[in-house]
Amino acid sequence: MNLPHSPQRECEDDRLHEECGIFGIVGATEAAAACALGLHALQHRGQEAAGITSFDGVEFYTRRGIGHVADNFSTGESIAELPGFMAAGHVRYSTTGGAGLRNVQPLYADLAFGGFAVAHNGNISNARTLRQELVNKGAIFQSTSDTEVIIHLVATSRYPTLLDKFIDALRLVEGAFSLICMTPRGMIACRDPLGIRPLVMGRLGPKENGATVFASETVALDVIGAEFIRQVDPGELVEVDFDGQITSHRPFGEHHARPCIFEHVYFSRPDSIFNDRSVYEARKHIGVELAREAPCDADLVVPVPDSGTPAAIGYSQRSGIPFELGIIRSHYVGRTFIQPSEGARNASVKRKHNANRMLVEGKRIVLIDDSIVRGTTSLKIVEMMRDAGAREVHFRVASPPTGYGCYYGVDTPERSKLLAGRMDIAAMCAFIKADSLAFVSIDGLYRAVGHDARDNSRPQYCDACFTGDYPTRLTDLADRHGGEAQLSLAVDSPRPAEPRPLDTRVA
Ligand code: SF4
Repeated sequence: MNLPHSPQRECEDDRLHEECGIFGIVGATEAAAACALGLHALQHRGQEAAGITSFDGVEFYTRRGIGHVADNFSTGESIAELPGFMAAGHVRYSTTGGAGLRNVQPLYADLAFGGFAVAHNGNISNARTLRQELVNKGAIFQSTSDTEVIIHLVATSRYPTLLDKFIDALRLVEGAFSLICMTPRGMIACRDPLGIRPLVMGRLGPKENGATVFASETVALDVIGAEFIRQVDPGELVEVDFDGQITSHRPFGEHHARPCIFEHVYFSRPDSIFNDRSVYEARKHIGVELAREAPCDADLVVPVPDSGTPAAIGYSQRSGIPFELGIIRSHYVGRTFIQPSEGARNASVKRKHNANRMLVEGKRIVLIDDSIVRGTTSLKIVEMMRDAGAREVHFRVASPPTGYGCYYGVDTPERSKLLAGRMDIAAMCAFIKADSLAFVSIDGLYRAVGHDARDNSRPQYCDACFTGDYPTRLTDLADRHGGEAQLSLAVDSPRPAEPRPLDTRVA
């Protein structure tokens, strides 16, 4: 993602956006074609740009473009530009239209040991500070991406081997990073010490000489016919060489993992497995918890499509209130964020969702949505239900109030623009003009994903956008936010003055 990163950046529609999806494959005959398919399955994680870098044993090849994966990688010619048995790709969401191609990943550089390509999902929360230090030492940056900081740190590391240089670089960065890197010797995949952003591993073809695959979500493995092996563990670095040899390293020591709980709520596709749980099942269970905690006297349970649907099914099953499609979503509408003004944004909501008038007329409706960000979409949907003749409109939300920004690779409006950042629930209910409003509790959310409750002394997930409890240092933002952020120690001690061997291999 881009520097300067800040939640003050405009979030141009009324959803949180995962900013990236990554995919990598090594040992496949048509690696770039598989990579394009995998990226297509991750399209929901970023729709602004896509890129693939491949390697044929001699050269690296890169093709990057603005737009969807299908816009850039659907022709034989586009794939033919990317020969080789190893490829890594990236889909990106960004609101910075002026940034252009230079920020589209994978980023590539020729370093002392040869070519180095990197695809990154997440956000480095001390990137601005590190970048300034590097610039002061003479580094020249080609992009405004925080990912380029990693490349410069690798390039300037004083350790002798590529692996040690990479680990040395990563020990300096804070925040969230799932990375897939390509080198002249193989692929390296890595997840930050807390495992904030997801990364999974699979195999395509036979066990003996099949290809190794990495992806943000299991759905990308499914789409290319690969077998899901396991998630890359938080803090794990996996090396794959061209003989298919896989080596696991744990270079960051022991840390309590804090994966992003919003993957369960909204980001991941429902047909993915995240943190060893079906995303669809988790969402349905959130609906069950919501019905238990916030029951409602109503005639119909209606999802806000598509993301509210699994929770609405759970709510309906628990409450016994019939589930019906009271809102129909058009899949052929341009995305709301290309509209510059608030008025145009509101018009886009209506073009995207339409009330199923014959169904809702005269009924008491429970609307289920996954989250409320600014509240503008929720307001329009409640109004749409009333215009269609609904007698009562009750709003139930399958996540706790989103009151804080995310600094880990998710585009969020500043706190003052988050409805829950500036209002209590009664005021939010009045704002969206609902008859009642309720959110699942934080413990209800944790129950839905398999825990008894949130462990407040050792939270099982990152849930900072609900609680304000940030699990890493936020170096770049500490001055701006004063004491608002919790600054806990999540990364290892600073690099030593002199290089010494890094023995990180796991037996
Ligand atoms: S702040 Fe929220 S969206 Fe960001 S990583 Fe944490 S849980 Fe996920």
